[in-house]
Amino acid sequence: MIYLDYQATTPLAPEARDAMLRWLDGPDGTGFGNPHSPHKLGRMAAAAVEAARDKVAALFPPGGRVIFTGSATEALNLAIRGSGKGGSVSVSAIEHAAVLDTAEALGQTHILHVSKEGQCYTAQDVPNDVRLIAVMQVNNEIGTIQPTTDWHRKAKEAGALFLVDAVQAYGKIEVTGADMIAISGHKFHGPKGVGALWVRDGVELAEQITGGSQEAGLRSGTLSPALIVGFGEAAALAKERMGEDSEHVEALWTRARELFADWTLNGSEEARWHGNLNLRKDGLDVNRLMSECRQVMFSAGSACASGSGRPSHVLRAIGLSDKQAKSSIRLGFGRYTTMEQLEEAAQIINAAAEEQGV
Ligand code: PLP
Repeated sequence: MIYLDYQATTPLAPEARDAMLRWLDGPDGTGFGNPHSPHKLGRMAAAAVEAARDKVAALFPPGGRVIFTGSATEALNLAIRGSGKGGSVSVSAIEHAAVLDTAEALGQTHILHVSKEGQCYTAQDVPNDVRLIAVMQVNNEIGTIQPTTDWHRKAKEAGALFLVDAVQAYGKIEVTGADMIAISGHKFHGPKGVGALWVRDGVELAEQITGGSQEAGLRSGTLSPALIVGFGEAAALAKERMGEDSEHVEALWTRARELFADWTLNGSEEARWHGNLNLRKDGLDVNRLMSECRQVMFSAGSACASGSGRPSHVLRAIGLSDKQAKSSIRLGFGRYTTMEQLEEAAQIINAAAEEQGV
C-alpha cells in the first residue's frame, strides 16, 4: 500500500505513540489516573497534560491559551457558537464543512469569495453587522495558503473577531495571528480524537459542552492524558523538524510536478502547501481510476465530501465545472512518504489514466 492521503489524516509518529503508552497504563500501572483527581495519581496525569499543553502552545503566537477538545470540529464549534450571538458570520467559500455548516446552522452566514487560484482576498466587503470572520490558513482540498494576516487586520477594523482553521497549517508552516485558532492532532502525526482551540487573552467564550467545567470552564469532560500527551509530542516533533519536513515535501513536490506534468493543477502553484497536489484531467473517470489503483491510497476531492456524490464545493468555488471537479484527484504526501513510493504511485496512476485514453 502506498499512502498519499495526508490531508485526510497522517501516520502517527512513533515518538508520539511511545509517549502515549505510558498514559494508557504504563509499565508500573500508574498511567491511568484521572487528571482532574486531586490525589497523587491524578496529579501525575494532570502534570503530563500541562506539559503537553506547553508543547502545543509553543507553535502558537504568544498571548493566548490552549483549550483541549475532542477534535478540530469541536474546537471550531466552540469558537463559532461560543463567541457570541446575533450579527453576521463571514466565512470563506472554501472553508471545511466544520466551519461552513456550523455558521450556516446559526443563520446570517455571509460567504467570502475566492479567486480562480483559490485565494480569499480582503478586497471585498463584509456586512456592517459582522461579528466573526473565519478564513482558514491552508485549504484541505487544494492546499492554497490564505492571506490570514490581512484578514486579521480587516477583522480588527470591522470590530469582528477573527477565527482561523489552521488544521492543515499547524506543524507545517508558521501559524499566523488571530483571535481563535483551531487545530487537530491527527493532521500532524498525532492521534485521532484530540484537537485544540487557541484563544487570545481577553476573548470571552461561552461554554458549549457543559458539565464538570474542565478546561477553564470552557469545555467539560474528562481529558484523555494518553491522547493529549501524543498530541503534545507530535507538536514538539513538528516544531523540531519543521525545516527538515518542509525540505522533504519540497523535493517530493518538484518530482511530483515532473511525474504528473500532463495533468492540470487545481489552485495556485505558489501560494500553496506543497504537500498537496490536486490535479485534473479532462474526461477522467475518477471512480474507475480509483478502483484500478487500489494499492494507492488517495482521494477524489475532499475526504469529508467523498462518497456523497456531490462535486467539491472548493473546486466549484474556484470556477471549475462539475465535470472538471469530478475529474480531479488529490494526492497528499509528507514526512514519511518516500520518493520511491511517489514514483511508483505516479506510474500506477498514469498507466490507469492512459488506459482510459485521457
Ligand atoms: N478543518 C480542516 C481544514 C480539515 O481538513 C479537517 C479534517 O479533515 C477539519 C477541520 C476537521 O478536523 P477533525 O477531524 O479534527 O474534526
